[in-house]
Amino acid sequence: MVPFFMFIIIMGLLLVLVIYGTFAKNRWGINLDPVICPRCNKSLATIRTPKSLRQVLWGGGTCKTCGIEVDKWGRPLSSSTRGLGGPHLT
Ligand SMILES: [Zn+2]
Repeated sequence: MVPFFMFIIIMGLLLVLVIYGTFAKNRWGINLDPVICPRCNKSLATIRTPKSLRQVLWGGGTCKTCGIEVDKWGRPLSSSTRGLGGPHLT
């Protein structure tokens, strides 16, 4: 059994990750703003249907208009940018 203070420390670390990620715009962050497609400047659907495990875990979506895949910050995902700063999930 994990002692209670260990649980608090782990939750605190996760909270720091999320807060840092929100400022640094990495995958740990939380984006409450609508995601805008970088190619056609249209807002992606707020209620998204994840198309991959990566989208389930880390957010983001696929533009219905042009089909580009973006992360939750509206940045395009290509083979050159995918996987930076974390494990490959797709
Ligand atoms: Zn688009």
